[in-house]
Amino acid sequence: ACAISPKAIVSDACASYSTLERLNRNVKPALDELTQTTDFFSHYRVNLFHKKCPFWNDENGMCGNIACAVETLDNEEDIPPVWRAKELGKLEGPRAQHPGKAVQKQEPVRPLKGKLGEGVGESCVVEYDDECDDRDYCVPEDESATSKGDYVSLLRNPERFTGYAGDGAKQVWDAVYRENCFQRSSFPHYAALGKDTSARGPAAMDFKAVLDAAGRQHVLEQTREHNPLTPFVANTGLEAEDECLEKRVFYRVMSGMHASISTHLCWDFLNQTTGQWQPNLGCYKARLHQFPDRISNLYFNYALLSRAIAKLGPYLTAEQGYTFCTGDPAQDAETREKVLAVTTKAASVPQIFDESLMFKNGEGPSLKEDFRNRFRNVSRLMDCVGCDKCRLWGKLQTAGYGTALKVLFEFDNNDHPEVPILKRTELVALFNTYARLSSSMSAIQKFRAMEEEEENKG
Ligand code: FAD
Repeated sequence: ACAISPKAIVSDACASYSTLERLNRNVKPALDELTQTTDFFSHYRVNLFHKKCPFWNDENGMCGNIACAVETLDNEEDIPPVWRAKELGKLEGPRAQHPGKAVQKQEPVRPLKGKLGEGVGESCVVEYDDECDDRDYCVPEDESATSKGDYVSLLRNPERFTGYAGDGAKQVWDAVYRENCFQRSSFPHYAALGKDTSARGPAAMDFKAVLDAAGRQHVLEQTREHNPLTPFVANTGLEAEDECLEKRVFYRVMSGMHASISTHLCWDFLNQTTGQWQPNLGCYKARLHQFPDRISNLYFNYALLSRAIAKLGPYLTAEQGYTFCTGDPAQDAETREKVLAVTTKAASVPQIFDESLMFKNGEGPSLKEDFRNRFRNVSRLMDCVGCDKCRLWGKLQTAGYGTALKVLFEFDNNDHPEVPILKRTELVALFNTYARLSSSMSAIQKFRAMEEEEENKG
């Protein structure tokens, strides 16, 4: 009886900020343990370097013209090496190569109804090639590459300030929010683009056309964001418009992800005077505190992921046959125990998010298809991010939200009773995205306390 409907604002009685913060205090230690101490969840396999931005030509630099790219490079040379954006954004530590076919696992057998893991075994570090099925909210990682990806230690490459900013970053964020225009034609969807990279020409043209239209929409959203009447725990204000629920949820997921990235870069910020990594209260105030709707969307995402993780828990038990670390029963048992500690705690607040209200109206099925395609486009946009570390976390988090949506909308689905397979990359992305939100929430609480202290002093 006490669910956050996707319609609801986070301040609704049942799921206040404090309810979610209490849940987070309970879940966070187990989540940190899982993502920081297991091989399975502290590494990610991702194709970071072999895919080009499919929507615009990034060969001339992210801002789209040569002069801009050259200027950026010139400026960089003037900056001491450790402070260069490039240096800050680069990946650290050894990256294992993609294993050859010989050591790859067999494709898992598609499980029977009601089971995620029948016959599914996963190695701790080696994985079979990705393939998406039509119920995925991600894009296939192998769509254009001959080399299938690199293994990255997430612990050695924390999400934090990198200095990536300017036109390149703005172009990506603008494009992400443009995907929210459900009624307008936007980028050609993945299926229309095909796998041939020569399809980029028309995509780039479409992008320009959409830019104009969506530029106006973006300004509109900005205006609403700045509305001083927006209460502290407000919704985006979008419901005042004639807008469907699904579109609002899409916007909130994107905005909440953006808010979480902003929180991490403000929390783990490089003080360029002292060379110390430390929280930057000014950064928090400028990007988050002034925009309560962004914080609300971050909490909304936390509720959404908590629900997905809780729903997934029963599919990951030993009885269901999912194996985390094939060939090492002890490590498998230990990893599972840590996973179940998280899923059980996430389930401790009943019905935290009610996904059953979505895709229910007359347009339901076609909206879902549209929603999924737009989500896939956002995941492809991550290849346009011009900073390795940001691209890594951008890809991981879009994959994490995609997996959460798959669990929410494709499991227990009467139209498709077969439970979809979740691959290792999806599980790792899901739990690490949850961990990102969890640490964002705890950073925001600390920022709030710092801000209050400053207010009291002043
Ligand atoms: P931006 O954050 O670029 O925002 C652009 C515009 O979007 C704003 O002007 C505002 O109108 C709107 N907006 C901002 N936040 C929200 C929100 N939550 N909801 C709705 N609208 C919003 N930088 C790092 O230092 N470390 C990283 O790990 C990192 N990862 C990134 C990952 C991705 C996928 C992208 C695209 C960028 C990443 N960046 C990262 C860059 C960072 O997000 C900012 O783009 C950059 O710091 C410049 O910030 P800005 O103040 O110009 O506004």
